[in-house]
This record gives sequence, C-alpha cells and structure tokens, in this order.
Amino acid sequence: MVDKKQVYFFGGNKTEGNGKLKSLLGGKGAYLAEMASLGIPVPHGFTITTDTCMQYLNDGNFSKELLAQMEDALKKLETSTNKKFGNSKDPLLVSVRSGAKISMPGMMDTVLNLGLNDESVKGLATKTGNGRFSYDSYRRFLAMFGNVVLGINSSGFESILECKKTENGVKLDTELSVESLKEIVNEFKDLIKNKTGRSFPQDTKKQLIMAIQAVFKSWNIPRAITYRKLHKIPRNLGTAVNIQSMVYGNMGETSGTGVAFTRNPATGENKLFGEYLLNAQGEDVVAGIRTPLAIDSLKETMPDIFKEFIGICTKLEQHFKDMQDIEFTIEENKLYILQSRTGMRTVRASFKIACDMVDEGLIDKNVALLRIKPSQIDRMLHPRISSDTKYTAIASGLAASPGAAVGKVAFTAEQAELMAKDGIKTILVRTETSPEDIDGMNAAEGILTVRGGMTSHAAVVARGMGKPCVTGCGDIVIDMNKGIFTVNGLTIKEGDFITIDGTKGNVILGKLELKSAGFSKELKRILSWANEIKSLNIRANADTPEDAELARAFGAEGIGLCRTEHMFFGDDRIALARKMIMATNETVRKEALSKLLPIQKNDFLKIFKVMDGLPVTIRLLDPPLNEFLPSHDDLVEKVHELEKEAEAHHEKEINEIRDMIEHSLVLREINPMLGHRGCRLGITYPEIYEMQVKAIMEAACELKKDGIVVAPEIMIPLISNLAELRFVKKNIIKVAEKVIDEAGIKVDYLIGTMIELPRAAITADLIAQEAEFFSFGTNDLTQTTYGFSRDDAGKFIPYYIEHGVLDCDPFSTLDQEGVGELIKIGIKKGRSSRPEMKMGICGEHGGDSDSVKFSHAIGLNYVSCSPYRIPIAQLAAAQAVIEDKK
Ligand code: PEP
Ligand code: MG
Repeated sequence: MVDKKQVYFFGGNKTEGNGKLKSLLGGKGAYLAEMASLGIPVPHGFTITTDTCMQYLNDGNFSKELLAQMEDALKKLETSTNKKFGNSKDPLLVSVRSGAKISMPGMMDTVLNLGLNDESVKGLATKTGNGRFSYDSYRRFLAMFGNVVLGINSSGFESILECKKTENGVKLDTELSVESLKEIVNEFKDLIKNKTGRSFPQDTKKQLIMAIQAVFKSWNIPRAITYRKLHKIPRNLGTAVNIQSMVYGNMGETSGTGVAFTRNPATGENKLFGEYLLNAQGEDVVAGIRTPLAIDSLKETMPDIFKEFIGICTKLEQHFKDMQDIEFTIEENKLYILQSRTGMRTVRASFKIACDMVDEGLIDKNVALLRIKPSQIDRMLHPRISSDTKYTAIASGLAASPGAAVGKVAFTAEQAELMAKDGIKTILVRTETSPEDIDGMNAAEGILTVRGGMTSHAAVVARGMGKPCVTGCGDIVIDMNKGIFTVNGLTIKEGDFITIDGTKGNVILGKLELKSAGFSKELKRILSWANEIKSLNIRANADTPEDAELARAFGAEGIGLCRTEHMFFGDDRIALARKMIMATNETVRKEALSKLLPIQKNDFLKIFKVMDGLPVTIRLLDPPLNEFLPSHDDLVEKVHELEKEAEAHHEKEINEIRDMIEHSLVLREINPMLGHRGCRLGITYPEIYEMQVKAIMEAACELKKDGIVVAPEIMIPLISNLAELRFVKKNIIKVAEKVIDEAGIKVDYLIGTMIELPRAAITADLIAQEAEFFSFGTNDLTQTTYGFSRDDAGKFIPYYIEHGVLDCDPFSTLDQEGVGELIKIGIKKGRSSRPEMKMGICGEHGGDSDSVKFSHAIGLNYVSCSPYRIPIAQLAAAQAVIEDKK
C-alpha cells in the first residue's frame, strides 16, 4: 500500500486524473479531472481515492503515506489559489464532498466552507469587505460540520436559524444582519458543545481530516445501504472524497448558485433545464428551502454568464456524450463549474434521450441500447391517468416525476413503510423530503411535497426510483400533530386516499382509475434495434388462446411453454379434470378424458391459429395433484348437510361423496411438488397423455388441411431418466402417427423434454438420445438443486437476503453458480449426443434480465417468459450481444 497513489490533484495543467478513472476517483472526481483538463473553469482541488475509503473502513486509520500525499496536494492547492489553508487573514476554504463510482444523489453529505474558525472568519470579513458573507459562510459550515461530521440532527441548527429570523421579523436568511449571524454562530457552537461535550475544532487540519473520515464512514450509513440495495450497487466500491477550493455564491446579488441539466430530466426534451438562486450557497437550491428561479431567467439577469454557461453545457454534453447534471456557482460575476455528472432521469426521458442522441449522431444504437436498463421497460409501461378521465385537482405543484399513483396519505417515511408492510399503498406527503426518508419513499407509490423545486431531493430521488412525484405544492399545509393536511378549505386525514399525477403536477382527492401507458414511439424504436441484433429467440409462456394473442402482441417468436394443466381451470373444466384425477378405474377416467378431448383440441386449434406457424411447445399434463383434488373440508360439510336433511334419496349421493373423501385421502400427498406429478402421472395413467396428444395432433392436422402452418413441439415434464422418456415417447408416437394416418396428411412434430431435475441434467447425454429438444425448467431445477420448496421458501428467503446469506432470490434470478452449472452440464452433454439440439429455458428466469444474459452466454437458443416480460428479455438479449463484443 505504501507507494500507492491515493490522492489526485485537479486544476489546469497540473491535473493528474481523467474521466476514465471513475472506479478509483468516483464519478465526480473523474469528471472534475476531465473538466479541468478540458479548460472548463473548475475550482481546483484534489480527490482521495475509493480504495482509500475501503482501506479506512477496514482498519480505521490514515497512513503516514496518505497524510503526506494530502499535505502535498494541499500545498499545490495553496499555490494555485494563492491562499493558505488555516491562515487567519486570507484563508483557503474548501468543500469536502463524497463521490462514488455510481452517482448516489442525496446519499452522501457535503461540507462547505471548511477551513473557517473564529479567527479566519474575521480575516475573511476584512479581506472581502463583506461581514455578512463571512459570517453567513461560517454559520453554514458549523451546521454542516455539526450534522455531517459530528452527527448532530440538523433540526437543531434549523430551529436556531428559524428563531433568529422570527426574532428579527425577517423571512429569508439573506435578510439577516451581520450581528444576527454572529449570534447564530455562537449559538451553533454552543449547540455543538452541548451535544458532543467538546468545542468545535478550531484547528483546520483537524477539521479536514474529521470531514474526510466522516465522508468515508457515510458509505455505510443506513440510507446509503438502502440506496445501494435499491440500485444493486456493490458494497465494496467505496466512495472517493473531493476536496475543492471554495467559490462563493453568497457574496451578494452578483453571485449565486444553481443546478442545471443539459436536457429535461423529466421528459427528455433537448432543452436546458435548471434552477438557481442569487446570493445563495450550495445546498440551498436542492434543499428546497427558498424557491429557486428557472434557469432561463439568468438570460435576463446575467446575459454574459448565461451565454458562457450554455457554451459549457454544450461542450460537456458533446464530450461526455450524455445528458449532464451540472452544479455551478457565480462568484461576483464569474462563473465556476463545481461538478458535472451523468444526469439522473425518468424512464421516459431515458428512452427519449437515447433515441434523440442516436438521431443527433452523438451515440450509436448499441450505446443507446446499453443506456436503457431492462427494468426500466417495466416502468415505462407504468400506469397513467387516462387522457379522457375528467377530474378536479385539489392542489397543483410541479410535475416532478411522471406517471400517476394512488394511495393512502402517509405523513412520515416510517408510516409509509409500516403501511407497505401490511400491503397498503401509500402516497408519502411531506413538507420536503430529506435523505433519511429514502426507505419510506421507496415503500410509497408516489411522493408529494409542499416545498421544493424540480431539482429538490424529492424530485431527484423519485425520478431515480421511477415513482410519480409532485413537488412545490405550496397551498398544502401539513399539521403533523393532527395527522391532517389542509388545502383550499379541504381537510385530508392520514389514511385518506389521494391520487397524484406526476405528469401534470396535480393532486386529486380519492382514487382515480389508472391505465397502462402502452408502448411509446421511443420504446418501440429501442426494441426494434434490440431485435435487430439479439441472437436469442424470445418465446412466451402462454396457456390459452388469449395468452397467445398477448404473446404475439409483445413480439413472441413462439410459445416456449404451454402448461396444459392451466387449460383445465374454469368451472366446467375443473369438474371434468377432477373426475379424471379421482377416477378409481380406467373406464371412469376414459369417460372424463373423452369429454376433455374436444375442449383441449379446441384450445389447440385456436392457439396454433394465433401463432400462425411459429413453434408451439405444449407440455403434457404436470399437475401437482393437490391443485386438482376437491377440498376435503367442503366434502365433509356437504355430507353433514345431506345427513341432517335425512332424506332417503340422499343416500346414494352421500355414499358417492364418502367414496370421494376416501379416494382423495389416498391421493393426498405430503409433498405434492415431489410427488405423483409430471411424467410419473403420464406413465401410470397413459390414457391422459394419449388424450392430450390426440387433441394436439388432431388440431394440427385439421389446420394443416386448411393450409395453416403449424409447428407443434410436444414436451414431457419432470423426466429423471431415459427410461421414463422412452416409455412416454413410445406412446406419443403411437397416438400421433395414428392421428396422422387417419387424417391422411403429414404434420411434422417434435418430441422433447423438460430438464428440471438434477438427475436429468447430469444424464442429459442419455436423455438426448430420445429428446429432440430440451427446455430447462428452472423453477423446478432451482427447487430441486437447492432443496428449497417452491411453495415454502418465501418464508425464509427474504431473511436470507436481508442478512447476506443469499444475494437475491434464486427463484427470480437464476443461481448461475449452482443451477446454472447444471444447465451448462445439460447443454454440453445433450449436444454431445445431438449436436444441433434446440435448447431454452422456460422457468420464471426467462424474463429476468441477468438470467437472459446468462442464457445467451451459455449458448441456449431461446428463453421463454410471461408475455409482459418479452420486451425486457429482448433488450437483455441485445445487451448480451453488445457486451459480448466488448
Ligand atoms: C419449471 O419448473 O421451471 C417450469 C417451467 O415448470 P412449472 O413451473 O410449471 O413447474
Ligand atoms: Mg416444472
């Protein structure tokens, strides 16, 4: 570690880092270095690496080498700014900010004006001739240091400030006199002493080290952990720290500070979007305490600065080839860029920006495809209020994050979380949100705030989460004590339903009906690009003609799994299916089957027609028996009722029900998932599969005669060895060939198997001697590999994830290490017997993006998933190809 470079200077031609070093310098540090090299007016500073953070979190120490490197960097900074750190006459002040590789807005805290103390505050006042500015800077520093570094709740500082404003009869902090600010400074220092038992440190080096350590430690504060979990950010990345010389937006009316996005982060529109405040510093804009001005008005107030700013925005966007989120400060008519990073945006904006940038020639289609997260597709189809729904809004604010949400009012993040745990949908209503609210924001359906602009914490975080959000709804008055809010003469209680429309910025009383957003023009374009380059086929799991239609609408390239037992659900069908299962002899079973035959055939006719020549994999019956057995309690009750009526003619019925009870007790299984299901049922009662094959082939022949192309693939479930497959396959061929003979028309069909038991995967070379295709049933394969019951694992998996025993639910995201390894064995062995064999997966994982990418990587031909997840799978499959090329 000794010789490792841990500190990187940035500033003009002395800059040591660059934009590619995001892992080491964090996004902010890397971009600061890149901007400094590009000649953008960035205040100089230095970055301490993410590695140093992890090292500090492990051993709790700063090495001598690190301290020496920091000392060096500080000297360089003193030279370049011509100021001295800790000097009492003209002090160098710095900001200390975190910056992880992946942007985590609102997660890590910032300390501004570090380097001030009781002496240098006077020096700064003399030097600048601006006492108000100097003491304003000091009180801000004390509050931030007190909160971020010393862990004192910020409300303590806020209430001192509020009291002082009330005492002086002023509304804004900018209206406070120097004397008042001095009093505030003293009260802040007293608060620090009271809360920590120690005086505020006057030694500026000590301040700096304490602040850096606090930023490092903030990597592991609960809200950072929550954010990482939400965004799947690895916990071992660590954060860098940026120490940057201060420039001041609070030096009067020719100074100010702001935040701007190079495009609209809510809609994606290619138009500068942002806000600023004059005579303000750093966090004032995002904190939502004073309502900021729209960036456009800077054109009037400071035309030259505006022009320069526009030029820089264009340069940055062209250079980084993505929408930028830029923080700037104007110090006495001079513009500085404090940071630029890839801007967070709504899902809708992500799609629009990606498509626009392709059209503008800034990026190519592959880059555009990689910019969309597969999970965003789900959110793109999120509900909205339909355009023809008429409503009267009870309040309006800013349309901070689009989409609509309905829920019960919750006034605290904790309340929203508690309600969500009980399955209750909520809208979190707050005066303004702060990073502590993150769990509650995540639990809520939508967020409504009284204060704050388009770049307030609530707006930025909601957009990142894809949750509808309305901010700056100034007519609302919240009374936390009474658990109500009032607006325009109305009183709304905690627990009342409201609807928010984040697309228009409206709040509506009660529940409005929401409808799915449908495919936007941009979504269609992105998916068409994905389909051009992906190599995996994407099929659908579809059991009914209606599902098949949906599958086609979503772009399925076939049906990968038609679960025929699902075709038996429905009142008339279930009775027949039950009769078939409960039959005590072959004659009764055949009778039930003969009634089911036309029903199944009719379904197949419709499904084949809809699929119009695309392959349709039909899985023969695989019912866990319990799903088909009548309820024991219902039968017993029925017997009791009939007995009570004591009528002679009931006797026969009573006996029949008693027989059913007895027989269902015989059929009942302790562990139905591993019981008499799948091919085991087909082997012991061959007439069931015979009926199904007859239905499939009769439907296929009939359609073929009418000139409709059909491609049936008959699939046998739960095979564990070759003998089972041979047994079933022989019967299938017998029945299928008979139907073909009788119809006098040739229909090609395949016979394949599910691979969903470890034994089948391990002996896949043998099974492939008979199987013409494999479909990996990753639901059962996960169940049987882990030995986790599909029906019961939900009881402990969340606990496992929470405690780091599992990274994620293996029933949602394929366990590549274990289950994936079995699949790889299955593929290799299967293809060793039958080289060109078609293989895919059809468990829930077929619609999970990571699992889709894995399927591509291991050489499967297709994945099959629910129709709604087809677009996700298409995008993930395309990304897999692009990532492969990289
Ligand atoms: C599977 O096991 O992955 C599968 C698709 O079959 P089912 O979920 O119907 O058991
Ligand atoms: Mg299965």
